[in-house]
Amino acid sequence: MAQTVNRTGVLIEIENHQVKETSLGVLTAAAGQEIYALVPLDDASGLKEKLAEYGVDHIVSIKGVEDDKISPDLLARILVTAVKEYGLDALLGTAGAAGKDLFARIGAILDEPLLSDCVQVDIPGKKAVKSHFSGKTFATLRVTGILFLCTVRPNAIEAVTAPAEGQLMTFESDAQDPGWMKIVELKKESGGKRDLIEAPIVISGGRALKTARNFEMLDACADKLGGAVGASRAAVDAGYAPHTIQVGQTGKTVSPRLYIACGISGAVQHFAGMKTSKVIVAINEDKDAPIFSKCDYGIVGNIFDVVPALTQKL
Ligand SMILES: Cc1cc2nc3c(=O)[nH]c(=O)nc-3n(C[C@H](O)[C@H](O)[C@H](O)COP(=O)(O)OP(=O)(O)OC[C@H]3O[C@@H](n4cnc5c(N)ncnc54)[C@H](O)[C@@H]3O)c2cc1C
Repeated sequence: MAQTVNRTGVLIEIENHQVKETSLGVLTAAAGQEIYALVPLDDASGLKEKLAEYGVDHIVSIKGVEDDKISPDLLARILVTAVKEYGLDALLGTAGAAGKDLFARIGAILDEPLLSDCVQVDIPGKKAVKSHFSGKTFATLRVTGILFLCTVRPNAIEAVTAPAEGQLMTFESDAQDPGWMKIVELKKESGGKRDLIEAPIVISGGRALKTARNFEMLDACADKLGGAVGASRAAVDAGYAPHTIQVGQTGKTVSPRLYIACGISGAVQHFAGMKTSKVIVAINEDKDAPIFSKCDYGIVGNIFDVVPALTQKL
């Protein structure tokens, strides 16, 4: 029996006037459906080629929402009107900080269930897979709402091209109520560095880094790789790195294409935050360190020799 094709909206995130890489993975999660890319720009025509390459049938420029400080309540209400206008059966977004916040609001407005931070998505089946209990188990959840509402963990689904028409459309909502929230000021987390959760490559340091200064060695390598720097809790507790970059059960969950653990022993609590990484590389001087039983590639060596050599080579 042929599967139903669902009208699926994908909220596109924009950075420096380009489509964020993580949004391309969300488009792939919606592959096979009739895809409406909801783009928060007055004029998204400059993104037509890219979005059409990744399977978008309709590119919808949403007018009047370009302001970074737009109230998330208002943005949620505008997206709800777009869902109704195009008769969408599903709405997907990225499970970054903004997406998690926004989709919860949309779910509340529509009184629909939300599947958040998923690693696999089945739109016709209204199902998605989520990691539970700090990554120890994966659960497949099925929802029974009318609108299938779901956010996808950044980088969990590899973006694959699937050329489509990319018909340009414009949408202007009549929603105006900003709700109870007003954004007064926006502060970037870490001086222009890449967002840890969304980075395609993460290089993390552990207690072995010994000082905050030594994290600059990882910064240099991350710059060459186009990635972001993370840290273990031991490194954070010792004051070598801020908590904002802690990876693990009590830190952030990342799912990059490549995760490089430098001087990290591989405790379960650390693993909970990076186990869905596609490729894990460990550098540790102790050949019996637990991390070596959980990585794809292991380098037995001193990080202060290996990391600078790697950066140099890159
Ligand atoms: C409730 C709870 C929540 C937690 N949440 C988190 C969390 O979110 N994230 C997290 O990371 N941890 C978390 N932890 C802590 C976790 O259990 C570990 O203690 C922590 O991950 C260890 O960090 P580490 O690997 O950097 O340090 P260590 O375990 O001390 O490991 C350091 C490693 O560096 C190696 N090494 C030393 N010098 C060098 C060198 N020069 N070159 C190469 N290798 C070297 C050593 O061989 C060792 O394997 C949590 C713990 C609890 C109880």
